[in-house]
Amino acid sequence: MSVRTERKFVVRRQISEQLISCEKCREQMISAQFSADFFGVSSRMIYRLIESSEIHFAETDANEIYVCPVSVEQALKTI
Ligand SMILES: [Zn+2]
Repeated sequence: MSVRTERKFVVRRQISEQLISCEKCREQMISAQFSADFFGVSSRMIYRLIESSEIHFAETDANEIYVCPVSVEQALKTI
């Protein structure tokens, strides 16, 4: 019984993690690694933008970094 409840909880959490939206632009956020592939830059570049607060980002309960693609695009334009 308790195992079944736990499994349901985990599934729900995974779904909610994929639907994080940016607090500032309401855009759906993507994982840092995915954004690096998507914009054709290294993940190191993405983390640098996060550290310098140039992009919107959020950290999930699972310690995964999600970034806002709109702010990443704007930040990469100015480099
Ligand atoms: Zn944003």
